[in-house]
Amino acid sequence: MEKIYIREKVIVSDMDKYLKPEFIYIPIDNTKYSLGDYIHKNDVINENIYSPISGYVSEETYKYIDDKKTKCMVIENDYKDKKRNNNYVFNKEKFFATLKSSNLIDSYDKYDIKYLVINAIDIEPYIFSKRVYINNYTSNILSIIDKIMGKLNISKSILAVVDNRLYNNLINYIGTYPNIKIVKVNNYYPVSNNKILLKELFGFTYKKTSLEKSVWVLDLLSLIDIVSIMKNNTLKNEKIITIGGIGIKNTIIIVKIGTSLREIIKYLGGYKMSDISITIGGPLTGKQIDNDDIIITKDITSIIITKNKSISEKKCISCSRCNSVCPVDLVPVFIMKNINNKDNLKKLNINKCINCGLCSYICPSSINLRNYIIKAKEVIDNE
Ligand code: SF4
Ligand code: SF4
Repeated sequence: MEKIYIREKVIVSDMDKYLKPEFIYIPIDNTKYSLGDYIHKNDVINENIYSPISGYVSEETYKYIDDKKTKCMVIENDYKDKKRNNNYVFNKEKFFATLKSSNLIDSYDKYDIKYLVINAIDIEPYIFSKRVYINNYTSNILSIIDKIMGKLNISKSILAVVDNRLYNNLINYIGTYPNIKIVKVNNYYPVSNNKILLKELFGFTYKKTSLEKSVWVLDLLSLIDIVSIMKNNTLKNEKIITIGGIGIKNTIIIVKIGTSLREIIKYLGGYKMSDISITIGGPLTGKQIDNDDIIITKDITSIIITKNKSISEKKCISCSRCNSVCPVDLVPVFIMKNINNKDNLKKLNINKCINCGLCSYICPSSINLRNYIIKAKEVIDNE
């Protein structure tokens, strides 16, 4: 595999906060609440969505989640952060149940965790959320990791980073925490992917080994939820996202899930130009959307605003670069060429794809191979 090494510099260092939104928007399906109801902070509104504010349900409206128009309830913030009485006492079984239902841990049994691996590597180039977060809250983060290890009797943990400056900074703090090891791994994309990271750290193959079963890989940015689950058995429902591009203030911002992107952009001073293009997600795997009437969901890691320009695909020149960069040894060009041949697609191990987008990025003909892989998965799944 040809490795794509990353040499970008972190272009922001401070964090913004937008934690007092006027309204929160939550998808209306599967909820017991309706117009006029009072919602307490941390009430469960929808599957795994806890209200991050208190206030009345003031109306119903449509907002976009990704590119899907979705009916949402609007909770008008009364800025009181009223909570129900909560005498929650930490309980390991409930803790694990909440982790599993929130996808913070794999489905198999992890009661006997030997290693806690904190993945502090930003998900894509030009996304800086984890690096800025760790730089701003280094000692808090180490203390949280130490607390999690204490509660779950985990004796070893690894904090994996790629950035030299961050590594040196962490080493200055680590003396107080002898059971946390800081490991600097090679800075190539997509080492941020948990499977690739485990391979880099322990040499795992993609098969589940017994050692892999006793490793819990936790995303650094999930620590805020873990603390909340330990204290109240609820998710914090806040997100740390990178907002950047040439059309907006570049920043790392902490916001509540359910906040309107328009409200956040207004808070950041608006757009710096017209005729913009909005990408939800990073430069390699992000998705262009047509409008900014969207709400922040737990899956959004970054928002990039750039000048609108259309890219046209050209003919494949059979250079094979897409094949040589694929970190899981797929043959993307072959998948594209067999997109209408289900029998051939089934033989191509498409489920191994980790959606990294490298094949599309490297293609000199600007072919969006990643979209072909997504389509191929649908073709196989819709048998
Ligand atoms: S998106 Fe999938 S097929 Fe393309 S390079 Fe990444 S893993 Fe390979
Ligand atoms: S990188 Fe693009 S042009 Fe080259 S083989 Fe793959 S699809 Fe064809």
